[in-house]
Amino acid sequence: MKPLTVNFRSKAAETLQDAQIQQSIEHVYTGFFKGRLEAAGDTPEWEELRTKGKAIKDHTIAHLDYYLGQLADNVEKNGGSVFFAEDAAEARKHIIDLAHKREIKTVIKSKSMVSEEMGLAEAMNDEGFETIETDLGEYIIQLAGETPYHLIAPAVHKSRTDVAKLLDDDFKEGDPVPDATELTMMAREKLRGVFERADMSVTGVNFAVAESGSIALVTNEGNGRMSTTVPRVHVAVMGMEKIIPSIQDLSTMLRILIRSATGQRISTYVTMVNGKRKPDEEEGPEEFHLVIMNNGRQKLLADPQMRESLNCIRCGACLNACPVYRKVGGHAYGWVYPGPIGAIVTPVLTGLKDASNLPNASSLCGACHDACPVKINIPRMLLELRYRTAEGSSDIEERTSGAKERGIWKAWRIGMMGRKRFDWAARLSRIVLLPIARNGWLKKTPPPISGWTSTRDFPLTASKSLKSRLSSRAKKAK
Ligand code: SF4
Repeated sequence: MKPLTVNFRSKAAETLQDAQIQQSIEHVYTGFFKGRLEAAGDTPEWEELRTKGKAIKDHTIAHLDYYLGQLADNVEKNGGSVFFAEDAAEARKHIIDLAHKREIKTVIKSKSMVSEEMGLAEAMNDEGFETIETDLGEYIIQLAGETPYHLIAPAVHKSRTDVAKLLDDDFKEGDPVPDATELTMMAREKLRGVFERADMSVTGVNFAVAESGSIALVTNEGNGRMSTTVPRVHVAVMGMEKIIPSIQDLSTMLRILIRSATGQRISTYVTMVNGKRKPDEEEGPEEFHLVIMNNGRQKLLADPQMRESLNCIRCGACLNACPVYRKVGGHAYGWVYPGPIGAIVTPVLTGLKDASNLPNASSLCGACHDACPVKINIPRMLLELRYRTAEGSSDIEERTSGAKERGIWKAWRIGMMGRKRFDWAARLSRIVLLPIARNGWLKKTPPPISGWTSTRDFPLTASKSLKSRLSSRAKKAK
């Protein structure tokens, strides 16, 4: 599995100082976030669709073994093969062995976050296969040697100048910057030849339909369709949760996915793949292979508090809604999945010990929950992970909270549990903090609560509680 690469705090601090990235990632708000609100507003049955989407995913995840079995049977009936990979290493090995056996030279990839989990493109390049990303954003990221910044817009942090430098070796600082269409044409020209010589493709799966053994791909560029028809071998890779029972469910899921992702009513391409080319068909691959990966998902499935995260359809709406993601950007999350959903799946899949600061990367404002098309309660799971981090769990043996911190929270809890105790604690805090307050504000609190005022001022406890003010006002009014 791809390792967790960065420290959230230091990368977030770096991104906050980068004016160009701050400007570029504004698009997730002005473009995607606003687009989703508009699309939802234009869909009168929007809330009904979300409820239906949640019910479909809840049902599927509760009967995952049944639907995975049905999917595998139907893919095989359609002439394809299915491989269940326990982890990323097993999946990678299976695909690389297959490529060796079929004497593959060039592999084209169409956007897939699961293949990012596997680190597949790097591994295949290391094995000597020419492996090229064909989604424009992923291609830019591959040229830059980076990881995706966003679930659906991997290069959203790059400016046009950055992209021009990556696509044109002769581009120099000060040259006129090509517009988006010109840049796209430059990439298209480079990729056309790659499509022609590719003998294997690896694509992701937006939804796998159990009852028909089909996979659905949602794209806005022609690369998905080219990848599934031109090369002689097509390998589709998916996490085991990317499954839905029926074609009818697919129509619901497509409506909520596309509107939530880009604000479109329908994406430019929705490609359905039903296995390899049939004898009477003119195009399509000679072989179709489906790789279904676990890679820690069973841990999520077995965890009643975290299972809901398997409902995720990777639309990116929670990222676009998140005030933290929109400032710290995607690379701060250090692994494949950024944003609020990344702050849940990364600690569970890679280990809470190394990713313990991710659940804290949230203001718990709830915007992600409101935005999620399948109503995943992200804040609830973030709180659960914070609790496990502080108190210890099977995944993280050592508590990250110190004795002092736990003592403070214990005292706070006792104070909050009764009205009299609360009033007494408030009065006491005022007495203790009054000497260091200036005009009713605390600019610098002493340890162990100095962190509270390291980036903002804190108001001094009021001299009278709201309750006593209201009751004296009521008395005066009589
Ligand atoms: S958690 Fe919800 S909003 Fe976030 S990517 Fe998944 S489906 Fe989309």
